Amino acid sequence: MTTPGIAAQKSIDIVVPAFNEEACIRTFYERTARAIDALPYAFRILFVDDGSTDRTAQECFALAASDPRVGLLRFSRNFGHQAALTAGLDAADADAVITLDADLQHPPEKLPDFIAAWEQGAEIVSGVRARAEGASLWKRSTSTLFYRLLNAISPFKITADSPDFRLFDRKVVNAIRRLREQSRFLRGIYSWVGFREVQLPYTQAERAAGRTHYSNIDMLVFALRAVLSFSHAPLRFATYLGLCVSALAFGFGMYAIVMNVVFHQVIRGWTSIAVLVSFFSGVQLLTLGVLGEYLGQVLEESKRRPLYLLADTHLPALVGPAREPKSSLPPRD
Ligand code: UDP
Ligand code: MG
Repeated sequence: MTTPGIAAQKSIDIVVPAFNEEACIRTFYERTARAIDALPYAFRILFVDDGSTDRTAQECFALAASDPRVGLLRFSRNFGHQAALTAGLDAADADAVITLDADLQHPPEKLPDFIAAWEQGAEIVSGVRARAEGASLWKRSTSTLFYRLLNAISPFKITADSPDFRLFDRKVVNAIRRLREQSRFLRGIYSWVGFREVQLPYTQAERAAGRTHYSNIDMLVFALRAVLSFSHAPLRFATYLGLCVSALAFGFGMYAIVMNVVFHQVIRGWTSIAVLVSFFSGVQLLTLGVLGEYLGQVLEESKRRPLYLLADTHLPALVGPAREPKSSLPPRD
């Protein structure tokens, strides 16, 4: 453990993506403030309002007016959870950054444990869901299946049940900032950058208020993005499938020729032709679809659009250690 004298020099930014969370913000702030108030660090709580259409931004500004540690980045529209986390990591300027959800599913009371693990040498501290209160069997089983599949086809080990409740040391934040890919799957990026990771179990609570922003279709799109960003296995699968089907077609062709030339027997029947044509069309469309998905990714990346746009920025100075407040946000390499 570090001595309090040394710890007092350190700073921590807490990044909180929020999309239509007006009902959660205040309770989130109160519980977080209670958890960190006694700790000897300079804190900032940076809310990222991801284009909310409710009073989330007003709630954050009200908190900022009463607590100089509270900051807000407001997006010009909804860019998504991954973009909101990215903006928070870009704006952060502390020795460590903690990310957690505004809906209180990630208990802020765990923050001292995250910080203690960091002080003991961890460069990434990952919250791992030991139990998820109120999570449906469907959500749990699809999530387990997804991570099994992803880990089977991706060279990077991505921990199941480890969402975005994490602490990053400054050097990890600097590394993550260098990855500007459009198709963002941050859990893969966290694994890609490496560094020394410690996992901390936590019990995921039910949402404090409101409802999840992710439908089954959103989850499917998220899963697809993860696979496309962190595995080329579907492309390879398309190649192998093409090879196998070509071999089958060659065999069948030889059989048809031999039957005709040697035995003077023409294979009769419309059925076999219809089956073969449909089968090959299906395989071709499937492989074209796989190619198309990857091509779409290339197109998105080549546009090099910004990952998010800010409409308002309120970044208080890190109270404690003498450090200039940041004036601009674009990522630093
Ligand atoms: N969120 C966001 N942008 C979005 C969707 C969600 O910033 O487009 C935030 C949301 O406010 C919450 C966190 O991301 O703090 C996780 O979202 P949610 O609770 O809806 O997802 P779940 O926990 O159900 O997976
Ligand atoms: Mg949630």
